Amino acid sequence: MRFTLLCSFLFLLINQSIAQKMDWSGNTSPDYTSLINYYKQLAKSNKRVELYCMGNSDYGLPIFLCIINGAGDSLATFNKAKKQTTILINNAIHPGEPDGVNACASWIEKELELKYTANSPVVAIIPAYNVGGMMNRNGTSRANQNGPVEYGFRGSARNYDLNRDFIKMDTENSFTFSKIFHALNPDVFIDTHVSNGADYQYTLTYISSLKERLAPPIASLTYDKLLPFMNKELQMVPYVELKGDTPETGIVAFNDLPRYAMGYASLFHSISFTVETHMLKPFPERVKVTEEFINVLYKWTRNNSEKIEKARMDAENWALDQAYLKYNYAMSDLSDSITFLGYEASTPVHPTTEVARLFYDRTKPYQKKVPYFNHYQALDSVKTPRYYVVSGKEIEVIKRLKANEITYKTVDTSYQVNGRVAIVRDFTSLAKPWEGHYKHSNTKVDFVQEQLIINRGDLLIDAHQFKSQFIHAALQPLTEDSYFSWNFFDSYLQQKEYFSAYVFIDKIDEILAADPSLKLSFEERKLKDVEFRNSEAQQLDYLYQNSPYFEQSYMRLPIYFID
Ligand SMILES: [Zn+2]
Repeated sequence: MRFTLLCSFLFLLINQSIAQKMDWSGNTSPDYTSLINYYKQLAKSNKRVELYCMGNSDYGLPIFLCIINGAGDSLATFNKAKKQTTILINNAIHPGEPDGVNACASWIEKELELKYTANSPVVAIIPAYNVGGMMNRNGTSRANQNGPVEYGFRGSARNYDLNRDFIKMDTENSFTFSKIFHALNPDVFIDTHVSNGADYQYTLTYISSLKERLAPPIASLTYDKLLPFMNKELQMVPYVELKGDTPETGIVAFNDLPRYAMGYASLFHSISFTVETHMLKPFPERVKVTEEFINVLYKWTRNNSEKIEKARMDAENWALDQAYLKYNYAMSDLSDSITFLGYEASTPVHPTTEVARLFYDRTKPYQKKVPYFNHYQALDSVKTPRYYVVSGKEIEVIKRLKANEITYKTVDTSYQVNGRVAIVRDFTSLAKPWEGHYKHSNTKVDFVQEQLIINRGDLLIDAHQFKSQFIHAALQPLTEDSYFSWNFFDSYLQQKEYFSAYVFIDKIDEILAADPSLKLSFEERKLKDVEFRNSEAQQLDYLYQNSPYFEQSYMRLPIYFID
């Protein structure tokens, strides 16, 4: 591992600031420089703590990784992390929500006072992921949040929400994250946040991955073993995403698509959580429950490492056996009932606006059963090929596959093979950009079986590898977060050449004579379709598109599927 280059730069940063003892339990959270300085000092003074510069952020300052219970040097530590049970915790992806920043440091200090045991999991902590956001300090951008007094901003240096960037990877942060993630291959992953939304009694809420999307061994370990244990140890409730205006109308399970940190981690069968503390609870209380969540999960991981390792191996084998990939998960109308500690809500008229407002009355706490809509079903599925071929010219896609350490072969001699190509028939795009993209959805594709030419320099990817779920999610054009949906193949969605009708009309008899099946379909269409029969433009366009004159690349994606 080569982590030293950026570190030399770091020393400059650290030497300029004075090391200080941090108070993790007050209403403050440190800025980037003080935080990294603290970790550096901690790593210097304690053998169980290692600190690595892992790569750049879009701000230009590095993202660090603190590891405890490693093996003492980078190579041995990352090897240990890959082989043994490892927890990865990501903090300050939204720097306005810095509970995890304080909680992790506080947790480490307490853990270091305890004796290291051989079965202690490796714990890797990203102290500050959104460096640019950390540098953009303020005390106002979290309008409804109860502390700390100062914090960073949600957007990164280039104003991306990094918690939507794990597949499209617009930022250097995401490239550094994938480096960290694959260097560790974490078994358990936690992303720390603070919620927005309704008022209720809980300080701690959490998101776990949609059970329907998980490999069954991971779903069963998470939902049958881990969550019952955590619910016994902690007062927590699933993240309160509302079905209606208040929790009483129901809570909706969060659909953790691969664009999110935890959805991304789930593609690699990591047991993934987002911690969402409640914005209206005081910062010190939120830090405390975040730390408790981490500690309870740490203990469970330590005591269940064999089960976790086995479940991940079984999950991998399960994934490799799946002939179809399910996608388009939609919430069903079925709900479970959960006990919920809320506050009575009413809608009095506000004197200034003179219209009804939503009001949660904290003097009227309740315990009620509320519906929990936690059943999803995949509306679609697509056949998964044994191999994908990605055109060697698609350098942006290839950059991302490499960053995710996908195993592939570069084709050295061109050859022909029978396979499928995806022809896009329809899609809709956003009218305004979202996270820098006019994202596509409602995509319709025909997979056409053809004799394909695989060119020298193309990538041949065997889908039978540990990262198969990532490969399918990114390369299958129909999936919710595919590279197609994130606009990587937009240049293929535009026709480049056209024809002049008054010239082309003199070619159509020749075209029809050379292609009897086209002649048949053309005549049939003329018989059945009056508008077509009366339109020279429609007829010529049809013949042009089905003739050898029509360009091959239009709507044809540069990915092949070989079964
Ligand atoms: Zn957040």
